Amino acid sequence: MHSVNRKLTAISPATGKVIAEIEETPLSQVSEIYEQARAVFPIWSDLSISERITYLKKLKEVMLKELENISAVISEGTGKVKTEALTADLMPTLDAIDHISRHAESVLKRKRVKTPLLLFGKKSYIEYFPRGVVLVISPWNYPFQLAMVPVISALASGNTVILKPSEVTPLVGKCIEDLFLKAGFPEGVVQVAHGGKELGAALTKEKPDYIFFTGSVRTGKIIQEQAAKDLIPTTLELGGKDPMIIFADANLERAAKGAVWAAFTNSGQVCMSAERVYVERPVFRKFVELVKKEVEALRHGTEEDDDIGSMTFPAQREIVREQLEEALAAGAIIETGKPPSEWDDGMFLPLTVVSNVHQSMKIIQEETFGPLLPIIPFDSEDEAVKLANDTKYGLNGSVWSRDLAKARRVASKLISGSVVINDVIINFVNHYLPFGGAKQSGIGRYHGEEGLKIFCHEKAVVENSGNRLSEVHWYPYKGKYPLYLNFFKSYFSEKRDWIGIMKSYLKLMKKSRD
Ligand code: ADP
Repeated sequence: MHSVNRKLTAISPATGKVIAEIEETPLSQVSEIYEQARAVFPIWSDLSISERITYLKKLKEVMLKELENISAVISEGTGKVKTEALTADLMPTLDAIDHISRHAESVLKRKRVKTPLLLFGKKSYIEYFPRGVVLVISPWNYPFQLAMVPVISALASGNTVILKPSEVTPLVGKCIEDLFLKAGFPEGVVQVAHGGKELGAALTKEKPDYIFFTGSVRTGKIIQEQAAKDLIPTTLELGGKDPMIIFADANLERAAKGAVWAAFTNSGQVCMSAERVYVERPVFRKFVELVKKEVEALRHGTEEDDDIGSMTFPAQREIVREQLEEALAAGAIIETGKPPSEWDDGMFLPLTVVSNVHQSMKIIQEETFGPLLPIIPFDSEDEAVKLANDTKYGLNGSVWSRDLAKARRVASKLISGSVVINDVIINFVNHYLPFGGAKQSGIGRYHGEEGLKIFCHEKAVVENSGNRLSEVHWYPYKGKYPLYLNFFKSYFSEKRDWIGIMKSYLKLMKKSRD
């Protein structure tokens, strides 16, 4: 058991300086947190959706007022440039609030569905009701939006929420907690628990009604294993090794700019970053030269006009180093950037583009999560698809060609939760689209209608007026078997025999009354 005084240290990765200390939530408080979340659930879930949306709109108002403050907190805590804090953390959160405010009511309202003739006289509908207490565990790379969007979605659906943000960016977690306080959410509706993996594990074991996890494949598997013990449903948003496929007929300059942005935004610490680029052989060299030119024009730093910030998590540096060293030892060539032996000790890693890499290297098979971009030539459409599908991941990918029929054909063949054509990553920002991974990139979806429905039980209701004394399929069965035979033969024949149906149905009804 930890003392109440244990602190999480917030470090600015760009400078290495300690920027704050945050009080850690003691493990001994976990059951109390759950008790509170469960106690307020009946009150929160009883509000109408539009009443709950009023709170979300207040949250948006507070966020808009504090936009610059929040982007500074995110930027300082992660090392990312402020522009990216604003465009990739804050904007998607604001947009999610807008989207949910506009659509939650229609997505979650009771929906009438058809009832087949077989169930003559009944009505059917679907209802959505909140699950209870949702546990959200979030990572450090987009510490604001990857925490906020699931939290907001779960709240709008009527759940109470416990959020455990990443211990790597504790100031952002604190900032989120303050925003909900300022927005005036009723006490206990959103609780933020500050701590590391021990706290995450303790919260997971306390039987929430749903777990929404974003993070590594390794931790996702641990959480899924724990959740399975109590059959707790989960969404797991895990890693990626996203391919770009660039055909010779693509707008090459655009593709090069897109590749550089997709590979190096947030210093490559993006589950959907471009982690491998496959280029059709005739334009391979030209493409590499275009990429080099783009990369060499980028500015590292922490100022407003800089393009690339620092890495966030020191351990990530070592993963990038190991992958690059392995590739170089096996013959990879650095097109631009530096080998690890020439890196300094800081968290601004050189933007490195490599060629002469092979499909079996870690740099192609394992998630890098850093500013490293391997480029590989291919010779045919089939080969490109085969190479792109040849990892354990399947989160996102992109296909580049002026021939849209070809691009769509290839996009359809990728085993991937999403694909972008002649663009990158941007599908994530369309909140109408579901988001999630195939293979080891995850389980489940969020955003879109799914993003609200996952936090609800989907209840199917059949309604009968209750006026009839009995139903044809109820007891007694005496004399019904041959009538059923006739009835089903008429009902299921390709050309329905309506006279036969009516005759046998009326006889069945009569038998039920006898
Ligand atoms: P990343 O390195 O991408 O942040 P992790 O999977 O290590 O990925 O961490 C994501 C989140 O999961 C963080 O909030 C972390 O504290 C939490 N976490 C790590 N280990 C566990 C665990 N065993 N149980 C629950 N949560 C965990």
